[in-house]
Amino acid sequence: MLNRSLSERAGMFVFNPHPSYNDDDMKIVTEIAELRVARNALAGSVGLVPTMGYLHAGHLSLVEHAKVENDHVIATIYVNPTQFEPDADLDSYPRDLERDFALLRDAGVDIVWTPNDAVMYPEGFQTWVDVTDISQPLEGGHRPGHFKGVTTIVTKLFNATTPDRAYFGQKDAQQVAVIKRMVRDLNMPLAVIACPLVRDTDGVALSSRNAYLTPEQRTAAPILGHSLCSAIDKLANGERDANALRTHMLTTLASEPLTNTEYVSVSHPDTLQELETVTDAALLSMAVRIGKTRLIDNMVWRAEH
Ligand code: AMP
Repeated sequence: MLNRSLSERAGMFVFNPHPSYNDDDMKIVTEIAELRVARNALAGSVGLVPTMGYLHAGHLSLVEHAKVENDHVIATIYVNPTQFEPDADLDSYPRDLERDFALLRDAGVDIVWTPNDAVMYPEGFQTWVDVTDISQPLEGGHRPGHFKGVTTIVTKLFNATTPDRAYFGQKDAQQVAVIKRMVRDLNMPLAVIACPLVRDTDGVALSSRNAYLTPEQRTAAPILGHSLCSAIDKLANGERDANALRTHMLTTLASEPLTNTEYVSVSHPDTLQELETVTDAALLSMAVRIGKTRLIDNMVWRAEH
């Protein structure tokens, strides 16, 4: 506001390549020093929404939750190389920063931090955060090193932004569990808030990676949600044998010829240990390839008390 009124009073036109640098608008920062200045100017509580960009309604739901519960919201956009396996889709990961900035500005975000690799992994970098056990099954078993990359980068995001609350999607159920464990174990002074998984109208879990799907592959994608829903129906009807549920999900997935299932799982939502018999709760989860695209999905079932 100050900048604008000063230049207006002076009758000058000030070219600003980043219109967002006005005091009353969203700030876009890259360097840690810039981020700290912007962060320290925020009075009151701060909610953090970490993302890898190419935003969709799932990401924006996290921003909405953060807006409701905090005075200010910081979003980060960073495609973290250390959480991708060597042959994975790091280079082809979809990116559209200008569109992301517009969406975050409309959503009322205060600061967007878009660090680059030099900022996050300076020369000589050698410090890692590793949550040893709960990182092992499920995604950890199929993506070696993934969670070590996630927990290290999330620690750095927390240290730099010092939020009161950080928002993560239940879409990545194991990520939520791993980060909650890390925050407890390392006494990090913030609350981790898990937000519900947002689906498209046909039940497909929203994901930036859905952009890779051809139209034909996209029509096959609802099978993940269908197989989860029908396993949840079985639980509601009294099925407690975890293997029967796994077989049911595998059979449903196999009915769609374009799918190639990596795993299906029936685990406990707190420990992520595979179950033999479902008692109080179950996390049904899966990773399925359609063509070259790896999709994950999950649903949580809890017994009614
Ligand atoms: P990503 O950009 O994929 O790293 O996701 C950033 C955050 O958005 C993570 O906490 C994700 O779990 C969350 N997220 C991604 N997709 C969804 C979705 N469909 N519903 C809810 N949260 C999501």
